[in-house]
Amino acid sequence: METTVQDTDALAISGGEPVREETLAYGGQTIEEDDINAVAETLRADLLTTGPKVDAFEKVFADFVGTEEAVAVSNGTAALHAAMHAIDIGPGDEVIVPTITFAATANSVTFEGGTPVFADVDPDTLLLDPESVEERVGPDTKAIVGVDYMGQPCRYDTLRDIAETHDLVLLDDACHAIGGRYKGRPVGSLADLNTFSLHPVKNMTTGEGGMITTDDAGWAEKMRQFRNHGITSTHHERTEEGSWYYEIPEAGYNYRLTDFQCALGMSQLGKLPGWVERRREIAGRYDEAFHSMESIEPVERRDDATCAYHLYVIRLALDQLQADRKTLFEALQAEGIGVNVHYIPVHLQPHYRKNFGTESGLCPKAEAAYERILTLPVFPRMTESDVEDVIRAVRKVVSTYRR
Ligand SMILES: *Cc1c(COP(=O)(O)O)cnc(C)c1O
Repeated sequence: METTVQDTDALAISGGEPVREETLAYGGQTIEEDDINAVAETLRADLLTTGPKVDAFEKVFADFVGTEEAVAVSNGTAALHAAMHAIDIGPGDEVIVPTITFAATANSVTFEGGTPVFADVDPDTLLLDPESVEERVGPDTKAIVGVDYMGQPCRYDTLRDIAETHDLVLLDDACHAIGGRYKGRPVGSLADLNTFSLHPVKNMTTGEGGMITTDDAGWAEKMRQFRNHGITSTHHERTEEGSWYYEIPEAGYNYRLTDFQCALGMSQLGKLPGWVERRREIAGRYDEAFHSMESIEPVERRDDATCAYHLYVIRLALDQLQADRKTLFEALQAEGIGVNVHYIPVHLQPHYRKNFGTESGLCPKAEAAYERILTLPVFPRMTESDVEDVIRAVRKVVSTYRR
């Protein structure tokens, strides 16, 4: 059924009426009165940073994902950096990362002097392909980072087997996936270290913010020092002890998250399951609508995983269309749908080509997938009519360009 709009409606890009006047963004935060009140209350308290809300947020976050420890930091990139530091990545060390990810996954390896080694992805799910990981493992490999693209967890049982066989640390860049599950287990507990971003576009937010979860108390302590200049005690601990003295065994950064951000995080986390449910509902509507459209293949979801739908990504069947992704992107933007592309394969970035010698052909499945992906809007505040607008616009654009 592709008849709700007349196939003859002129595209907005060709001067026709757009589906929407105002552009619908591809994502966005939900901030409610109780979130605002939680922040305001903390702003009136004594400690704006390194206070009780940080410990409290870490505790509820760890409980939510089912780990012993959670360490709050200033953003998702800092979370990745702290994780690389915790496991002693340094010059000469290689860390395997998927090339379909936000660049911070690979960049963070280089912050500590390590070398990211780009692995290919499964063309149906765009998740790290365990076979490609196996091919990349060498004597200098120290760790594997899975990225739960779209919010769908990687195949962690398989990745775990590879990590154990070669004595590697397994990490999950779970920035898309808070609220997701793999074989019933919550995202955040699937790898040795799991990192989150709490940027407004992600499934919950603290403005800027990040978190690392782990069962390893030693790593957690190391990361708490790392986020605080490398100092072994906090200012408040020293005040309580009546001492000024502190030590810096190793230099760190200022990657702290404030108390009022942590108050917002706690308020948001309570509502996250409902929001993920809403994301799943919207994804279900898209799946249903696109099922009959041959020129569109949504990225596949596996039965053993519960996707948290940070993103909803379609793949265009380019052989059935008379236009490329760029044209469809522009046509959908013109219709008022804020489509996006996640992601340009990281190994194709000039920085990596120039400094790490990567080139096209290194990850052929990812490179081919990149040519045909489009991200559609999905976030909890979308109304039914927003969802319908997206479906109408996709139908209109795709039917116009169909061969
Ligand atoms: C958002 C994101 C990051 C970076 O998080 P920031 O909070 O923006 O620093 C890293 N990896 C992935 C996969 C992300 O989506």
